[in-house]
Amino acid sequence: MIAVDEAFLPGVGIHKIPTPVPFMEAGGPANAYALEDVGGGFSLFDCGCGTDEGLAALREGLASRGLEVKHLNRVIVSHGHVDHYGNAQTLAEESGCEVFVHPHDLEKIVGEGRWYRQLEKSWGYFLRLGVPEATLNAMLDGAKRSRPYARPVDRARVKTLAGGDALQFKYFDAKVLHLPGHTPGLVCLHVEKRKLLFADDHVLAKVSPNPLLDLSLGETDDTKFKALVSYYRSARAVKAMELECLLPGHGEAFKGHVELLEGLFQFYELRQNRIMKRLGSEPATVYELVSAVFPRVDIGRMYLMLSEVMGNVEVLEERGELERFEEGGRLKLRAARRRV
Ligand SMILES: [Zn+2]
Ligand SMILES: [Zn+2]
Repeated sequence: MIAVDEAFLPGVGIHKIPTPVPFMEAGGPANAYALEDVGGGFSLFDCGCGTDEGLAALREGLASRGLEVKHLNRVIVSHGHVDHYGNAQTLAEESGCEVFVHPHDLEKIVGEGRWYRQLEKSWGYFLRLGVPEATLNAMLDGAKRSRPYARPVDRARVKTLAGGDALQFKYFDAKVLHLPGHTPGLVCLHVEKRKLLFADDHVLAKVSPNPLLDLSLGETDDTKFKALVSYYRSARAVKAMELECLLPGHGEAFKGHVELLEGLFQFYELRQNRIMKRLGSEPATVYELVSAVFPRVDIGRMYLMLSEVMGNVEVLEERGELERFEEGGRLKLRAARRRV
């Protein structure tokens, strides 16, 4: 990973505005990118967390670059996490602009698909994974704390984006890339001419992008979104791209994405080895695997831990290395029987 000097950004109509995030897991302040538009005004690619501090930082950042909210033409949401779309509704009310998002993350930003709602709706699913009821209650309390971090966006203001869409800005054209993994509807913007990628949370320099357990597309084996399986595919697509600059959702501009992603694949490999080692002795639930993968189990991080385990379990399943079965209302996993 090599730092890229960001001094060239304003010259091509890109204004990076870091905004504070009140939770650790994000990996630091969330970047909003104001992009100058053809014919005046600007768009935002992400708009920070919807706390008072987040909104104030965004306003200050815009003002210091001579940009006014009334000249905001559109908000493009990279994915439906509060630190990326949190101010969308407030900005849309003020400017009258539309909010663009991929259909798979639409329900998150209009409020129905927020994580705490998914958890309430999918309580039975988590019990099947072996998560104790008390742990689930603690997870729900934690999830509800994120409620003030974003106002739901009015459905009527939302327009959908699709992979392959072309977006025009003052100094460049960008292509929308649908790269599911971190969330089902995550998009990045690719500026091919400049070998530049607005990478949001798909490729981050300092933290793993956490392909999160997500039941918004369904809970059954054939409908459930397989976060890490999808992430591998999306990350390989980016790995094959020639890029000179990645502008992430958190942190500074960088390049060297190929080595970074290779390191990440190795990191997942280690977790997969731990899972297979644990299943070598006897079958386990997803919840039981959490303590095999993570030396210190922390309820505050349980959702991330379950996500990591479930993601890696699904990858191993796809490779035919483990298999699932039902026992006493629980989903259990075991090492696949080798065919001779
Ligand atoms: Zn983020
Ligand atoms: Zn995110």
